[in-house]
Amino acid sequence: RQYLHAIDDQRYLNIYVEVYGDEALATAARQDEARSQGAGLGRLAGVVVSIKDVLCYAGHGVSAGSAMLENFVSPYNATAVQRLLDEDAIIIGRTNCDEFAMGSGNENSHYGPTRNAADVARVPGGSSGGAAVSVQAGTCLVAVGSSTGGSVRQPASFCGVYGFKPTYGRISRHGLIAYGSSFDVVGFLGNNVEDIALLLEVTAGADGRDATAPNKPVLPYSKTTTEPEQQSIVYFADLLESDALDPAIKKSMQETIERLKDRGHTLTPAKFSYFDYVVPTYYVLTTAEASSNLSRYDGMRYGYRSPEATDLADTYTKSRTEGFGVEVQRRILLGTFVLSSGYYDAYYGKAQKVRRLIHDHLRGILDAHDFILMPVSPSLPWPVGERLDDPVANYLADVYTVLANLAGLPAIAIPAGTAGHLPVGFQLMADQWEESKLLSFVKGL
Ligand code: GLN
Repeated sequence: RQYLHAIDDQRYLNIYVEVYGDEALATAARQDEARSQGAGLGRLAGVVVSIKDVLCYAGHGVSAGSAMLENFVSPYNATAVQRLLDEDAIIIGRTNCDEFAMGSGNENSHYGPTRNAADVARVPGGSSGGAAVSVQAGTCLVAVGSSTGGSVRQPASFCGVYGFKPTYGRISRHGLIAYGSSFDVVGFLGNNVEDIALLLEVTAGADGRDATAPNKPVLPYSKTTTEPEQQSIVYFADLLESDALDPAIKKSMQETIERLKDRGHTLTPAKFSYFDYVVPTYYVLTTAEASSNLSRYDGMRYGYRSPEATDLADTYTKSRTEGFGVEVQRRILLGTFVLSSGYYDAYYGKAQKVRRLIHDHLRGILDAHDFILMPVSPSLPWPVGERLDDPVANYLADVYTVLANLAGLPAIAIPAGTAGHLPVGFQLMADQWEESKLLSFVKGL
């Protein structure tokens, strides 16, 4: 009830696409009843979660923030959602996001922008902007989001909460609406690392429905103790000198470096010579994958169908033209271009090679050190509407977050106070499958 009141009182933030109020209350009442009769309950009994509007929840709408799927009801549960429900989580609603998770400000949603609760004139980040504000505004305990290139860490940092993406494949993608399949992961946003660790523990692990989720042991992430010993942390020194980085974030990063040194950790400056290639590589590969993934929305099988269409080709064209927003169309066109014969080798093939170089370089660093420390975003949350006409500026702002997705590494955004009234965060990245080490380190901070 408290969370539902918080939702009602803050409708102007536009956090939820749909709230499952009666259903959540009924589930809570059933759990109270079961508990009073001494029945055993799952590990998430009483835990109220929000889910981003890209995760399938049987019998509920899921639209990926798009007119294309506005009236679509999922016939099945995503594996992550199923595992939460199996442990008695209470799902309070689905949160607003950028259309098909494409964006960094939550302004590309069919349902309008979500507002940052720290300053309603500013964006909450994206694409999991609704998820971040759902935690920030106290409308749930923890939020489930997704990350293709930063969609959990960046909004978390803009809203002053924790945001975590696991290793690629750690959590099944079954039932997560696809954007860039070799990048997409389910992630979590919360007020602390313990809540996130528990959700990871419940949802991680092999799944017969996702061949990229391997049978690696799932550790008791929520039970990990804090890491007392000295850790070796690398940071990219020239990044902190860059003019592209907001001075307030620079200052916050320097303070974080000093704080970590004071606690006895080793901080080593290093060079990363591929920064200029990170964003182009990410946008060649993800738009290529998106153009393929989004070809399923053809106006025939499910989703929006144009009432004006006359024949098959016309149905494809009109349904996709009317159903997809501007940014999604831009990316489908970009992706189709980089995959087209004659350009495939020059763009797609080349980007795959650069991705491998970036991956090898980062993993080389993490062979010799424990973590990589980075800013999350080069800027503070910007005013709603300010960047709508400048997609390239938006893409460039993803430079620090897309690295972890390009290399498939686990990473977490950690709140580091505020600049004025606006939240600032920093991020730590670890080697593949090192979730336990990363989360226990952050717990100790
Ligand atoms: N901002 C990035 C993009 O637009 C990342 C989005 C995401 O992680 N889903 O692609």
